[in-house]
Amino acid sequence: MPQKKKPIGVVAIGDVAAVFLKVIAAHISGYLNLDAEILPSVAHPHFALNENRFQYDCGVILKTIDSESFDGYEKVIGVLAVDLFVPIFTHVFGEARQGGKMALVSTYRLQNNLKGASVPDSLVYERTAKVALHELGHLFNLMHCDDDKCLMHFSGNLEELDETPLFFCRYCTAYFRDALQRQ
Ligand SMILES: [Zn+2]
Ligand SMILES: [Zn+2]
Repeated sequence: MPQKKKPIGVVAIGDVAAVFLKVIAAHISGYLNLDAEILPSVAHPHFALNENRFQYDCGVILKTIDSESFDGYEKVIGVLAVDLFVPIFTHVFGEARQGGKMALVSTYRLQNNLKGASVPDSLVYERTAKVALHELGHLFNLMHCDDDKCLMHFSGNLEELDETPLFFCRYCTAYFRDALQRQ
């Protein structure tokens, strides 16, 4: 009998509304059929604030928090309410290293439309779920997909994110299933 797989952990890094953690965990179990557990939150990442940009550096957060032990978890999604960046982009919705253990998701830029007006909660939750599942895909080694009707298609802005569906194309689905088998 195959060993029971470790669950995916969902953890707030700093102050994050509990509903975002629930939305992400529900999509991981509902869409990907993987166990997901919400973990006790960890401290706000003051150490990662870039004072020139007033944004938080993904690389610094991943380097610092990844080293903490999440032994009982296959992968971990860290959720933040602050603005994230990686040096080559003005901002990112999320970040993960290919095949890594932990990904980051920020709700900061998902709350408004391009003109800055707020959007319905349901859309904010859908965007959050998309970013989380996309980054989880990277943790399972999925690359960006050319198919713009696939969740692994790269979205650099909200318009693209909103056009991206909440599911993987059949190639990415097959790859994902394969990656799970190999765990
Ligand atoms: Zn990506
Ligand atoms: Zn795809």
